[in-house]
Formats: sequence, structure tokens, C-alpha cells
Amino acid sequence: MILPWHQKAFAKLRQMIDQNHLPHALLITGVEKIGKFELANQLIKTLLCKNKSCGECKNCQSLEKDNPRKLLDHSVLIRRSHYPNMIYCCNELNDSGTLSKEIRVDQIRAFCESLEKTAQELQIGMIFYADQLNINAANSLLKTLEEPRKNTLIILLAHNPSSLPATILSRCQSIHINPTFNESSVAWVSSHIEEDKREDFSAVQLLENSHGVPFRAVEDLKGNYFLQYQNWQNHLLEIATNPVKANESEVFDGQELEVLNCLQQLVTQAIRLKTLRKEGALLELNKVIEKTPAKYFFQLLDDINRAISMSQTSVNIKLLLDNILIVWSHITHLKKYPVITNPREN
Ligand SMILES: [Zn+2]
Repeated sequence: MILPWHQKAFAKLRQMIDQNHLPHALLITGVEKIGKFELANQLIKTLLCKNKSCGECKNCQSLEKDNPRKLLDHSVLIRRSHYPNMIYCCNELNDSGTLSKEIRVDQIRAFCESLEKTAQELQIGMIFYADQLNINAANSLLKTLEEPRKNTLIILLAHNPSSLPATILSRCQSIHINPTFNESSVAWVSSHIEEDKREDFSAVQLLENSHGVPFRAVEDLKGNYFLQYQNWQNHLLEIATNPVKANESEVFDGQELEVLNCLQQLVTQAIRLKTLRKEGALLELNKVIEKTPAKYFFQLLDDINRAISMSQTSVNIKLLLDNILIVWSHITHLKKYPVITNPREN
């Protein structure tokens, strides 16, 4: 299946295949976690499967068994695919047992040699990440790229093409995967949020927080980010029920925008529950809702939204968050909603 944010890049590949213009060397670029490997995999399936990457034939199944990104506990130069005419090259363990930061020349030599055997079938070699090739390795690869062999496809994946030598770049046809914010990507993120959490998170927001990288948006939710988010949420609720806690806002340092997003979610949830006259899963939030008139939540939400949109400007976001937190800390016993000023940086 082609991921929604890969459609454009895949259409270009499809066109190359249809016009019989697939190059000998292909460079797939895009930020970390945008799915370069997944796109390459989809291309290879399309090339090897006689039935539009059916997922069921021998070739498709061989490719689905491959997991070259999994770390091995021993050092290897190259990894073989379950499809017999394909190999992978990625950074591996050093002699010292730590993961190498670069792809070495002996790996590239083994890679190129392995692609040299003659076969009727298409030979494929994939390197990731090409921006981790050291100088000798890059030079060694260059020789192979300069003398392309028939029926051979080399695929390079790279986060940052500008760190590749120009000599290599000039010998590759490149395909770039852009970050995405469109509806179909939002729908994809939403479908990957666990059902019981879906109400608490906005897929649009998650995608924005991850700068348009859907895999990252989903991972953030599962990994540390979710824990961190819960941490902020708990701390924010503590502030609302115990105003002196507002003085301990240094736990938010450097995360002001994320904390504003978190507070935005909390207040939105408060408005929803208050309107529906329902209790939510967060006991502390229920207490805050009980004591606070709805109009103050609406006013605060306006201020938070304004702060979030101003975060892109020269505003001092730390002061702005502090001002909002002062109001939030008094929300349950405000006599009158105060005006929040927007501190500008000098
Ligand atoms: Zn197939």
C-alpha cells in the first residue's frame, strides 16, 4: 500500500517505470522517519511482483520478511534480502561492539562485489543511509556508479543530500519525500491513534507538532512524548488546583509551545465537558470545571490560541506562557477575567 504522503513521489517513480527510464542509481531523500525505506520497498515490490505488489506472491513475501533496520548483535558487511538478488548495506557494529556512525569502505566493497555477479534477474542494492558513507566508502561506491551494469539498480536513502559528495549526487536520479499536512495524512495519523486515546488528541495537532512527519506523530504518542505530555498535563492541573505551583513553571522551560498546545487541549476538553454537563476521566480537571464559569474557559482558550499563533513571531514565548499560567492558576476563583498582554522581545 502506498502511504498517502508518498503518492507524489511514487507517481514519479511509476512514470519512470512506465517510460522505461528507471535509472541505475536512485537517491531517495527526506527528513528522518518520513518513510524513505517504505517508499523504496514499495518500488522494489512494484518491480519484482508480476501482479502490482500483490503482497502474496513469492517475491512480495520474500520482501515482506526483510527487516534490515533491525540491529544485529554481531557485525556484518552487508545483509542479504530474502529475495535472492537483493542486498542491503547499513551501518553496523564496530569491533568494540558499538554501532558505527559511518558506513565503511570494506562494507561498500562487499556491496559492490555482490552486485557484480551476472544474473538474468534484476539485481538490487540498497544503502542507508548514504549520508553516513565515509569518504573512502563514497569513493569506492562512485566507481560502481560510474560504470553502471545492466539489470542493476542501486538505491541510496539519505536524510540530508547536501552532505553527499557532488560526484555521487550527479550520478543519481533523486526523489524527495515532502513533509505533509493534508487531510489524507491527518486521517492516517488518526487511524493510528489507539481508540481509547483518540478523544484526547487531535491528529491535526499531532501532525503539526511532528512538523508534518506522520510516523513521528504516531511514535511521539507511543513513546516518551506521550509520557512527557501526561507530565505537563498533570503539572498544569496541579497549577489550577494549587496556584502556588505556578511559581514552579521552570519545568516547562524550552517546551513553551508544546505546553501551550497541551493547555489548549485541556481547556477545549473542559469546555466540551462543561457544555455536555459530563465528567471526564481526569479527576482534577473535573474539579476545575465544577468551580469555573464556562465564559472564563472560552476567554482563556482565545488567549491560548492567540499565544500559539504568536509563537511564530518575535514574542517572548516564555513570558507569554507565564502570563497565561497566572490566569490559569486563578481560573477557579477569578472575580473578573484579566487582560493578558503580549510581551514583545526587545
Ligand atoms: Zn506480488
